[in-house]
Amino acid sequence: MAELGVDVLLLSLGADLPYLTGYEAMPLERLTMLVLPREGDATLVVPRLEAPRVVERPDAFAVLPWDETDDPVGIVAGLAGRPDVVAIGDRTWARFLVDLGKLLPGVDWRKASEVTSPLRSRKDAEEIQALRVASRAADRVAAQLHAGEIPLVGRTEHEVSQDIGRRLIAEGHAKVNFAIVAAGENAASPHHDPGTRAIRAGEVVLCDFGGTMPDGYCSDITRCVWTGGEPPAEMRDLYAVLLDAQQQAVASAVVGMPCEDVDGVARRLITEGGYGPQFVHRTGHGIGLEEHEDPYIVGGNCERLAPGHAFSVEPGIYLAGRMGARLEDIVVATADGPEALNHVSHDLVVVDA
Ligand code: ZN
Ligand code: ZN
Ligand code: ZN
Repeated sequence: MAELGVDVLLLSLGADLPYLTGYEAMPLERLTMLVLPREGDATLVVPRLEAPRVVERPDAFAVLPWDETDDPVGIVAGLAGRPDVVAIGDRTWARFLVDLGKLLPGVDWRKASEVTSPLRSRKDAEEIQALRVASRAADRVAAQLHAGEIPLVGRTEHEVSQDIGRRLIAEGHAKVNFAIVAAGENAASPHHDPGTRAIRAGEVVLCDFGGTMPDGYCSDITRCVWTGGEPPAEMRDLYAVLLDAQQQAVASAVVGMPCEDVDGVARRLITEGGYGPQFVHRTGHGIGLEEHEDPYIVGGNCERLAPGHAFSVEPGIYLAGRMGARLEDIVVATADGPEALNHVSHDLVVVDA
């Protein structure tokens, strides 16, 4: 905060607050906000009825409950004093920022991520271990998919999505964040919403799923399977290009490499393979307490990878209306090179399920 000239940090919804305090605000209409001045003590302003959820840490912050007839925005403004520069949590409801703006006129508002992202994006050894454990749990579900233990043909995408979600929980997740299941032509829609389409024999099924472990750290993996028989030549060709691009992008993710150059490795190989225009999204995103966070592996992000950066490498190729594939691992940049956290097979496995 001193480096950035920030006088007060205000944190509400999102992962910044639990990262610093262990407490996660409820995403409801009542204001929860940590007021953290650059100098002086931090105060967690919290609705009286939610105060019992807070695990108190008097060494770190005081708890100030507010009653239903109080004005919590006024309380926060009072604790903030007369700041010039305030950094507010990126996911704070806009209504609170609008009201705070009226009580703190002339303030230079910044995003809290300017302060927190450099801290959160570089994981320490304990966090990396937590991400390893999360990735292994997701790997076990992917292995069940590959082994044909998750019935596919004849079920709807939605049913398979629910099944994958139950398995993520059974393997140790506390919460399912998403379970995309996209069959055949739907696999060409990168963020397909699993629906009533029944899965047929002899087509691709793209599965992208992840959850949050009890300690708050996330998993995220994508694997594709072929439902019986030999995949056609076009699919085999597309997948070979994708696999090579994904593996080489992972290998390129060494400390010091600009994030956009990791994206560039995958994009160049896919373009050389003839599918450049069909790779329609960035190569990856950071992961930690949030399933998507800094650093983003995208053109224009010239930030260099540093030890402890954790992120996905997930190129995809999408032939609109026909088929598609994506392959995703979580990777940590370390002094010894990139460490991929997912180890389940990267092949387009043919399953009889
Ligand atoms: Zn996505
Ligand atoms: Zn994913
Ligand atoms: Zn992802």
